[in-house]
Amino acid sequence: MRRESTLHLAATLGSVYFSARQLRGLNRLGDGYCPGGDGLPSFSASGAGWQIDRLAEAMHPQDRADLGLLLDVAASLPQPLLAGLLRLFNQAEHLRLTPLRLARLGAAGVVYSLYYGFAGPGGTQVRDRLGWDAAIRTQIPGEPVMNQLVRDAAPDLAVDATEVAAVFDRARAAQTTIAALGLPQRLALLDRLGQVVLRRREEIIARVSQETGKCASDALLGEIYAVIDNLEYLRRHAAAVLADRKMPTPLAMLGKQSRVWYEPLGTILVIAPWNYPFYQAIVPISIAFAAGNAVVHKPSEYTPLAGLVESILAEAGFAADWAQVVYGNGQIGSACLAQAPDKLFFTGSIATGKRVMAQAAELLVPVELELGGKDPMLVFADANLERAVAGAMWGAFTNTGQSCTSIERCYVARPLFERFVARLVEQTSKLTLGTGPDHDIGSMTTPMQIAIVREHLADALAKGAMQHTGLDWDGVSPAIPPIVLTQVNHEMRVMQEESFGPFLPVMAFDGEAEAVRLANQTIYGLSACVWGGDKAQLERVARQLKVGNVSINNHMITEGNHALPFGGAKQSGIGRFKGEDGLRGFCNTKAVMVDGNSAKIEANWYPFTTAKYQALDKMTVASRMRGLVGIIRFALAGLPLESLANKLGRKGRQP
Ligand code: NAD
Repeated sequence: MRRESTLHLAATLGSVYFSARQLRGLNRLGDGYCPGGDGLPSFSASGAGWQIDRLAEAMHPQDRADLGLLLDVAASLPQPLLAGLLRLFNQAEHLRLTPLRLARLGAAGVVYSLYYGFAGPGGTQVRDRLGWDAAIRTQIPGEPVMNQLVRDAAPDLAVDATEVAAVFDRARAAQTTIAALGLPQRLALLDRLGQVVLRRREEIIARVSQETGKCASDALLGEIYAVIDNLEYLRRHAAAVLADRKMPTPLAMLGKQSRVWYEPLGTILVIAPWNYPFYQAIVPISIAFAAGNAVVHKPSEYTPLAGLVESILAEAGFAADWAQVVYGNGQIGSACLAQAPDKLFFTGSIATGKRVMAQAAELLVPVELELGGKDPMLVFADANLERAVAGAMWGAFTNTGQSCTSIERCYVARPLFERFVARLVEQTSKLTLGTGPDHDIGSMTTPMQIAIVREHLADALAKGAMQHTGLDWDGVSPAIPPIVLTQVNHEMRVMQEESFGPFLPVMAFDGEAEAVRLANQTIYGLSACVWGGDKAQLERVARQLKVGNVSINNHMITEGNHALPFGGAKQSGIGRFKGEDGLRGFCNTKAVMVDGNSAKIEANWYPFTTAKYQALDKMTVASRMRGLVGIIRFALAGLPLESLANKLGRKGRQP
């Protein structure tokens, strides 16, 4: 109520936080950065000054005061001087004067943040509260203007927390039907799902590209091919993986049978991130469904793909309650978790992972966490240079670097370092930006991720890094050209924190031990890759890396093989997804032993007697003996127990 009246007042009078003069300063800065800006908002005192208040409201008062000062300066400088300064800032890019480039990044960041309400102080909170959609227009060098809709929370789709309970009630009721279908029928449905995905692939690619900004090839490979490949794995292998298993029975239990049965857990809650929105929906849904579970899927609020997943599942023959989609932000995710699903399958950041695990702990809901990464690439001196450079570029820049298993750090043996960097820079400069099939790299998906990339770059440059490519990035556009950095070290955020952007920082190493030490010097442990000609060395190194997945002379191929388990070590996650482990991860693994219905009772049952104790003791000692002699001793020790076992009630204790 208070906010509404404030905004109403501001709409009439301009900004309530900034003077007319300060708004003039903002417009002048804006003109400097986006001259003739088509369709850009105006912050003039008489016009839409209130727009800036949507951001200013959420700012710390000190930040607001500092910003006011900057805008005052921009307003008071003579126009030619201001224009000259801005030109100097732009020149600084080419001159590689780090302090000036940082100043430019900062000033441009402020202006764009205010124009688009993306980032800057308080931007995220404002977006969370107001749920904006913002359209960015950005000019890519050599390309026509690329329009990208960066979505924010989808308030129109978000369900009320109270509706969530009904979703889970329906899922629990539906699960009985899903289990009763039997595995062959569930797999037939998944086979149909594969056909539908294939047939509707262009529509899916278009939707995914629109919401994420990814290029067509990234969408085809990461969202369509990978989904179909996983469905094929299930079609071929799920029956064998989920079949009842006979297990060994120890000698002492001779005559009994041991089994493991894989049964559905019940209802699985899938909470997904925004970087592979279609894949992160269909793959966990299909694996959990194959195992006989109902699924509730909560996509990211940034890439909801509203209605798409439901429509594709329905066309494949899924009933509506078998896999439901609940839209909304983290609060809705938390409301879903509060319904105590039988398992949470969460993919996202470490910070959220910790929060959901804490909430799940209260309810004892089992969790699988697929979290972030800071994957290292280790290139030894005998690596094939061309292959390693091509692999480094693809591994670092695919999906615009927004893959949990992107190469985020590259360590190269010193003798190869200079040649590697030269070739890498030359090849990286040739990559094209855009969303079409001829483009290599799409745009970033979310405003906060752009802000992180900007901050990591500024931090690295301030600490002495050298930037070789992507010098024309303005620090705010979602179309980030791939950035190669050298002169980096582990004091820099870009070498320690997940950047999730098209960065490739490259550092030299001296010797195998140092390579391993640098690669492991992180809280993350998702995946890694090692490159070279000496297989024994590569395997030795790979075994020392504390990660969940490692590729040799390649990157991300472990993830591409759906027969392999996928998951993280250290803070990159808990549990394993896909392959045998992943399928069984959605099961209640039930241990079963089958015995006969004879009158015979067990040696270890009552009554306990001294004679029985001595026989059991002999058997315990014999149980550690090996070979034929051991078996005979064990059998001899067990024989007296056989006769003692059948003497129920002979101990003589009177009632
Ligand atoms: P995020 O952690 O911000 O959000 C992930 C999901 O959690 C979203 O759907 C969000 O709405 C939901 N959420 C947020 N707060 C919640 C809460 N309190 N309770 C329940 N749900 C909540 O992550 P993101 O920014 O969407 O995704 C990027 C991150 O995901 C990166 O760190 C990336 O490395 C990671 N990731 C990991 C893998 C993997 O397999 N290891 C794959 C893809 C992405």
